[in-house]
Parts: sequence; structure tokens; C-alpha cells
Amino acid sequence: LSDQLAQAQKVQALGQLAGGIAHDFNNILQAVSGAATLIARRPEDLEKTRRLARTAIDAAARGASITQRLLAFAHRGELRTEMLPTAELLTCVREVLAHTLGSAITVRDTAAAVPPLIADRGQLETALVNLGTNARDAMPEGGTLTLAAAAEQVPEGGDHPAGLAPGAYVRLSVTDTGTGMEAATLARATDPFFTTKPPGQGTGLGLAMVKGFVEQSGGAMAIDSAPGAGTTVTLWLRQASEDIPCAATEDNEPIPSHD
Ligand code: ADP
Repeated sequence: LSDQLAQAQKVQALGQLAGGIAHDFNNILQAVSGAATLIARRPEDLEKTRRLARTAIDAAARGASITQRLLAFAHRGELRTEMLPTAELLTCVREVLAHTLGSAITVRDTAAAVPPLIADRGQLETALVNLGTNARDAMPEGGTLTLAAAAEQVPEGGDHPAGLAPGAYVRLSVTDTGTGMEAATLARATDPFFTTKPPGQGTGLGLAMVKGFVEQSGGAMAIDSAPGAGTTVTLWLRQASEDIPCAATEDNEPIPSHD
């Protein structure tokens, strides 16, 4: 029965996803065909033709970006996990974001002696950049974006708020000083195709993809946000076991030797 329930939920989620895609694509096709129709009607008005062609090109680009994200979704089965040095990774992402987010936003990272983690590097970088661009969108007047990392041990028998299984994790967080989210937005933020951004600026797939990626990697995601108080998105990813500090090692496991 629980299998059937899970199956039914999957079908429902798929239906929602398909409905969202159909809706988005319909809007895009309408924009393209509307522009083409107007061009066909009065092709001699060159300036108007140029403007309409731009509209069509932009709409097509939006469609392409949705398909790309869907493909990324579909390829989730092919994670290439490796051991990644946490502090270096954050520094690298900070540099990329400092370049792309504009001078009104200060980007900091604070990951001193954090153990390495296990993840697909490309997917993790994409996820963090995604969170960074969301943060920028929430700080139109500028602000501070902080990337942080820390080790976290989830004990046996505990009830982790993000539903993490017991084990050693690296907790990554992305904090902004932006608008924050109303409770109703927060509740739906990770739903595929949920967006509060104007058409063409948001696809509503960013957080859904980040969540899917970390869960598939054996981790979890949580969002803390309130209007006016900014937002923190936290990702937990598995810690690379080679570097579990001795103190946190289970009694029955051999203590790793470093020679
Ligand atoms: P998109 O960015 O395309 O809208 P996302 O799935 O990344 O899609 O985000 C969904 C929604 O969650 C956004 O439209 C926005 O309302 C809200 N959101 C996401 N990140 C933040 C943030 N850092 N601050 C405030 N709101 C956010």
C-alpha cells in the first residue's frame, strides 16, 4: 500500500510538473507566434519588426533555459561524486559570485578548518551559484551575501530537523540580507515552477533543483527566512569519511591513522 501511495504521489508531482511546463511553454509559444504574426502583417515597418524579433528571440531563450533546467533534472541519475575541499570550493564560488552579482553586493566566505565533503563538483557549484543569484534578486539595493561552512555530526537516534540520517556532514549556508520571504512563499519556495518573479525572470526551478540535488547526494536542504530579516539556505552534504575527526568517530570503528 505504501508503495502505491508513493507511486500515486509521484504521478501527482509529475502531473504538476507537466502542467507547469505546459503553461510556461504555452506562454512562450504565444509570444513567439504573436510577434511573428505582427511582423507578417506589416513587414515594412523595420523598427517595429526589429523590436518584435527581439521579443521572439527573448521568448525562445526563455524556452531554451527551461529545457536546459529540465534536462539537468532528468540527468540527476548521473552524479559524479568526489571528495571536495570545502574551503577551496567556497572561495571559488565566492569569486564567481563577486564577479557576477555586481558591486552593490559584498560576498564573503567563512570556512576555515572544515573537513572535505562528498558531492558532484559541477552540480554543487551550480547549486551555490543559483542560491547566490536568488540572493541578489532579493537584494535589489545591494547587501551582503555570506557563504559559510561547518562540520556537523548527526547522532544515532536523533530527530534531525531537516530529516538527516545519522552521520557526519558538512553544513553549507548561503545567507543574504535581502527582503526575506512571507510564510506563504516560504512554504512553496521549493515547489517546481513556483516563482514570484515576473515572467522571463524566474522559472521557479532553482530551489527545486538544489533540493533534488542535495537529497540525491544523501544530504538535505532547509530554508530560514522572514520578511525583512533576510534568508539563509542551508545545505547538508556528506562529509568525506577520511577526515572524520577522531573524537567524532564511533567507538566500534577503527580510529583512522594518519601516517
Ligand atoms: P526563481 O528564482 O526562478 O523564482 P526558485 O525556485 O529559485 O525560482 O525560487 C522560488 C521563489 O522563492 C522565488 O521566486 C522567490 O520568491 C523565493 N526566493 C528564493 N530565494 C530567495 C531569497 N534568497 N530571498 C527571498 N526570496 C527567495
